[in-house]
Amino acid sequence: MASFTLHGIPVSRGIAIGRAHLLAPAALDVKHYLIPEEQVEAEVQRLQMAIAAVHKELQTIWNELPKDSPAELGAFIDVHALILSDPMISEVPLDIIRSRYYNAEWALVTQIDELSAQFDEIEDTYLRERKADIQQVGERVLKILTGSPSALQISPGDGSEESAGRMIVVAHDISPADMLQFKDRAFGGFVTDLGGQNSHTAIVARSLDIPAAVGVTNASALIEQDDWIIIDGDAGVVIVDPPSKVLEQYRERQARLVRDRKKLSKLRKTPAVTRDGTEITLCANIELPDDCPAALEAGASGVGLFRSEFLFMGRAGYVSKLPSEDEQFESYRKAVVTMKGRPVTIRTLDIGADKPLDTVEHTALNPALGLRAIRFCLAEPQMFLAQLRAILRASAFGPVKLLIPMLAHSFEIDQALVMIEQAKSQLREANKKFDPLVPVGAMIEIPAAALTLPVFVKRLDFLSIGTNDLIQYTLAIDRADHEVAHLYEPLHPAVLYLLSTTIAVGAKAGIPVSVCGEMAGDARLTRVLLGMGLREFSMHPTQLLTVKQEILNSDLAVVTPQVKRILRMMEQKTIVEAVEQLRKL
Ligand code: PEP
Ligand code: MG
Repeated sequence: MASFTLHGIPVSRGIAIGRAHLLAPAALDVKHYLIPEEQVEAEVQRLQMAIAAVHKELQTIWNELPKDSPAELGAFIDVHALILSDPMISEVPLDIIRSRYYNAEWALVTQIDELSAQFDEIEDTYLRERKADIQQVGERVLKILTGSPSALQISPGDGSEESAGRMIVVAHDISPADMLQFKDRAFGGFVTDLGGQNSHTAIVARSLDIPAAVGVTNASALIEQDDWIIIDGDAGVVIVDPPSKVLEQYRERQARLVRDRKKLSKLRKTPAVTRDGTEITLCANIELPDDCPAALEAGASGVGLFRSEFLFMGRAGYVSKLPSEDEQFESYRKAVVTMKGRPVTIRTLDIGADKPLDTVEHTALNPALGLRAIRFCLAEPQMFLAQLRAILRASAFGPVKLLIPMLAHSFEIDQALVMIEQAKSQLREANKKFDPLVPVGAMIEIPAAALTLPVFVKRLDFLSIGTNDLIQYTLAIDRADHEVAHLYEPLHPAVLYLLSTTIAVGAKAGIPVSVCGEMAGDARLTRVLLGMGLREFSMHPTQLLTVKQEILNSDLAVVTPQVKRILRMMEQKTIVEAVEQLRKL
């Protein structure tokens, strides 16, 4: 067969080379027939039983989630459970059987098609991509109805070390629950027809650190079982049946990547010091306490950002309530204890925008500009106080820092500080231990904050720059919208201005400033941040060693004047070129 190349969306980096393992195509193609009136209730029951069986299946998968599985996975399974319970799926198809005499499969597919069409109209990309979830749930029910085996069953031979290492899963789409079946197998990568940057496959592939390309239209139709394929996860390209020369080149690239990773792992215990002897602090971003071992493994000096909202998310399916003060305390304490004396920066709840709570109805027209983070917390004082008490109590077990997201107004800082004091008094009254000197810091992620820094440095102990939101709000680019993704530019002169001012004002005031947004983990930008005077970075643990290597190779005396020059530039293209040059120094 001739070699050909398919293009999709790059969602998870690296190179995978292996043989295609095709998953059975979507099961939505079903038999259509009318049932006699007297059998209607039996048909209704058949569908109800299939739905109940899927509920049980999801519950089992949820219960058996391996401890080290990505946090998102549990949340996604909850989403599927929610969809299954929704009357749109659990009741409307029953009505269709009763009113139109359709067989159960046909009734279900009719309703799923109807819902899918409605989703196609949604403007929000993230929500639009949730259409796939509805189809995946539908497929699960259909599989039970038709008695067909799971599309994902893998023949026993495939589990062997030799074949599994080179298996590349090719599918129309993969549901997060089904993805679990692959977790324990050393498979090389994913290719799916559907999906975008925010699709579940993409998110899970990234958190498992596996090369993947999604949105590769028709991949599952064009690629055949056992075809040799290469996934270039950086470019989103899939090469099918590559000529031996290409295969050889990619094998070399892959081997280089593996070698680089091995070399990097030796830096784990090396202090992050620039060539001219300046020590840089490298911390980890975590979502759950279970991420702490990975942070330690990467040699992090502490946790620079614990996104506490992940304790609150994905709880509507099987666990209906938000975490209590005690439950939160246990999680924060676990993180503090695991980090063995290294500081843990716990950010208070940042929900809203792209991280909604299942238990709260969000009706904002534009959630990124709505009742988000500290705004939401100040509107829900009892919930906020419970979280503050839980965080403070954890400070009795090791160094804790408290970080407040999305502050813009001085009165918001004042109100947050008053509530922290109130939480402390409540703890004193209840005779509960905490560190009374827990440092309190602000996320600088709204341009208004970066432009009124004196208000912040006067009242707070440290600052942490959230570049993800700072860029989103400075450039008016929704960070979740792929249609404007090309305009999301960390090197825009306005962004660089706000970053450098924040770092400089913090230094002048003598308070620590760190960057905890994605920019901190991008080694291509490390020197830009060093040159601005940044001495503390916080990032996903998988990025830490690459950034450390860049720091070890950097000389501040050389980098700093060049960055000063870059900060005077106004043309994007010139800045990008200058930053490329900076990496070569
Ligand atoms: C940021 O905005 O840069 C940040 C670190 O927070 P989040 O990505 O959770 O909004
Ligand atoms: Mg943010």
